[in-house]
Amino acid sequence: MIYAGSHISSSRGYEAMGKQIRKLGGDTFAFFTRNPRGGRAKELNIPDMERFYTMAKLQKLGPVVAHAPYTLNACAAKEELRIFAKETMADDLARLEHIPGNYYNFHPGCHVGQGKEKGIELIAGLLNEILKQEQQTIVLLETMAGKGSEVGGTFEELREILDRLRYPEKAGVCMDTCHVWDGGYDIAGDLDGVITQFDKIIGLGRLKAIHTNDSQGERGCHKDRHARLGEGKIGLPAFQRLVVHPALQGLPCILETPNDDAGWAKEIAFLKESAG
Ligand code: FE
Ligand code: FE
Ligand code: ZN
Repeated sequence: MIYAGSHISSSRGYEAMGKQIRKLGGDTFAFFTRNPRGGRAKELNIPDMERFYTMAKLQKLGPVVAHAPYTLNACAAKEELRIFAKETMADDLARLEHIPGNYYNFHPGCHVGQGKEKGIELIAGLLNEILKQEQQTIVLLETMAGKGSEVGGTFEELREILDRLRYPEKAGVCMDTCHVWDGGYDIAGDLDGVITQFDKIIGLGRLKAIHTNDSQGERGCHKDRHARLGEGKIGLPAFQRLVVHPALQGLPCILETPNDDAGWAKEIAFLKESAG
């Protein structure tokens, strides 16, 4: 069994997101905590969050995977950009404590010429400043396509970040199928091999969520161009195998495919039917 859902708009609040994903047939979802370009967050609406929390419990929804604005760069060269990333993430995490037990996913960052090692150090340093022992939200590092100077394009890089954390139990990994494929991992031809490698390097216990996206690019292209399931180079059979893989049971599978509501409903149904 897996949870399946898609990325949806947060403009009408948490309860509305919960209702919307039910309409699409899903039982988990992702959303941007604020304008993806990193603007101001909406006014905090605690009653709305509490209504959603109750609804999620009653309807047995899977964990929600909130997505940080993708323009944040935790390992930017400019200090003011790193401070902006830190303050934004800390504020997002404080808000998410009103719906405890969910995930907060972010793109580790781009080292912009400072080198991988420096990038890893800065990302871990930022996390060590914002992660709190008592927090109820797990922060997820996303596996990246390795585009440009992205950090997190290999399992080893993610492991190095996790190894530097003071509270490593407050962090985990969100595996994006498009990104790992673009990064060179053969999830279409050798899913077992990739999962074994993930387990050896990072540990499967740290895998908390999956972004189920097909890829427009060939394996290893480092491009990060998402495709609808079956319309890319990964192909439908790979996703059918993914959702029944024993190591991935119980995980939220989030679609970030270029789609409309009808397309997402179809893909959610496909994932659920394939999972059996
Ligand atoms: Fe992402
Ligand atoms: Fe993703
Ligand atoms: Zn992507």
